[in-house]
Amino acid sequence: MKGIYLTILLFVTTTLAFAQNKTENLVIVTMDGMRWEEIFGGADSAILYNKKFTKDSSGTIGNFWNADAVERRKKLFPFLWSTVAAQGQLYGNRWLNNKVNNANLFFFSYPGYNEIFTGYPDTSVNSNDKIWNKNTNVLEFINLQKNYKGKVAAFSSWDVFPYILNDQRSGIFVNSDVDTLKFKDPSLKLINDMQLLTSRPIGVRPDVFTYFAAREYMKAYEPKVLYIAFDETDDFAHEGEYDQYLKSAHAEDAMIADLWNYIQSTSKYKNKTTLKVTCDHGRGNEIKNNWQHHGSKVEDAGQIWIAAIGPDTAPTGEIKTTGLLYQMQLAATFAALLNFTFTADHPIAAPIVSIYKYSKS
Ligand SMILES: [Zn+2]
Repeated sequence: MKGIYLTILLFVTTTLAFAQNKTENLVIVTMDGMRWEEIFGGADSAILYNKKFTKDSSGTIGNFWNADAVERRKKLFPFLWSTVAAQGQLYGNRWLNNKVNNANLFFFSYPGYNEIFTGYPDTSVNSNDKIWNKNTNVLEFINLQKNYKGKVAAFSSWDVFPYILNDQRSGIFVNSDVDTLKFKDPSLKLINDMQLLTSRPIGVRPDVFTYFAAREYMKAYEPKVLYIAFDETDDFAHEGEYDQYLKSAHAEDAMIADLWNYIQSTSKYKNKTTLKVTCDHGRGNEIKNNWQHHGSKVEDAGQIWIAAIGPDTAPTGEIKTTGLLYQMQLAATFAALLNFTFTADHPIAAPIVSIYKYSKS
């Protein structure tokens, strides 16, 4: 009897000392070039009331304006400011001195996504061209781990992702833009038909088809790691269409809410899945017309944000303490959530411990 008691005691002590995260599945979503200013402040009055940028001003003001910034951001991002704010974490409100930065100095897409997934702001990754990424990414690392092989998938609107994630080498499933959805599943067949018949307003697959492809794939094939890369916000911003930029941001928030509802209603995923939402780069703000632009010449375009929700993430909501995180820390954080230590033959930035230390406290 005494022996058994001692064994149990030892087991408990060991478990506490090496507490594992509860996260078994990981879902990552990126909103391309989505500014932290709208995430934390909602629609920006200086752009919203400028007819040059907001053609449908009465409709857009009606949908997204409120004099109170807390109400305003909730109108634009109801999921982030209800569910995530109550049960998860949001980093990057610079008005409260909480900062998230690109470590790379290019402030455009490929270098940003490379930084997110490799943990390494490689200075030689300096173009959006379709170049096979030589750096090992964390999704590929996870795909090599026990129980994760063939269980990692990415869906993107932008057609450069197969190169960024190097699906030739990495072995992870990447479906981008016009890539055929070669599945027997009837829902995926229907989405494939629709994606080929869309007018493609931004020149690539509309985000809604990318989302439904990812969701139906998730239902049919139960990946353990799923990445969804939205694109529309960046394209509409470049076009100077603030009303469309806000509408896409709002729609993407609703798709993320729909995804989280699915996750939390399915025993395979419920309470063992962490969702992370972030962006590749910011956009200008100091010079207001620069909201359209980003890149190394737009100084404030390296300012980003991170949202997280899941069983290992403390429900601290909007982070209001002074701090500085970097995009390059995300790769190791993704691995750490799944109880792995990301290694590759390049330097990897340290994980963001505050995102997953909850279950260990
Ligand atoms: Zn862009």
